[in-house]
Amino acid sequence: MMQKEAGKVNEAAENRKRIKRVIYVAAFLFLSIFYILPYLTYTSIYFHEKAHKDVLESYGIKAEHKPDWIWVIPNFYSRVFGIEKSELAITTFNLNEVKKLNPVQIKEIYTAGIISDLRFMLLLSVYLIFINLFLLFKKPKAQFDKYVLLILVIDWIIFMWILVLVSSTISNLSYTEGDIGKLVSLLS
Ligand SMILES: [Zn+2]
Repeated sequence: MMQKEAGKVNEAAENRKRIKRVIYVAAFLFLSIFYILPYLTYTSIYFHEKAHKDVLESYGIKAEHKPDWIWVIPNFYSRVFGIEKSELAITTFNLNEVKKLNPVQIKEIYTAGIISDLRFMLLLSVYLIFINLFLLFKKPKAQFDKYVLLILVIDWIIFMWILVLVSSTISNLSYTEGDIGKLVSLLS
């Protein structure tokens, strides 16, 4: 009789633990998608625009990209849902000055951003592999070892970031308004 009661108490405690775990995971997913992802995305956008700007300036063309770190979250979601065109990913410059350059230089300007995104993807993938290899040597003691949890969290965040970079590269390569679309219409 006593044993049965103890079993019930244990089961209840185990259930509470399970519920807590689900709540933590849900809170983490919410936080990572709604708060962390926009900032990660904007970090790579910032370097994408900076890459365009650096090449433009190396040819003596004035370029401007105003980073806006305050409105990152609302701007990110208006972009995702296509509500309005956000100014997050825009470098302004004089198009007529670009038209005076030769095709190789123009190509360099328009592909600089995509190259920056690909570099991000490469770095993140290498980091992802190494951080997971670490587990092989660490030999976790329990299923929910704190190192395993930490690496799972990092995996998820990096994975989301790579997904965003892949989808923005696809748009840049395929949309008329993307970098390659603009380059082709400028050169033809
Ligand atoms: Zn671009």
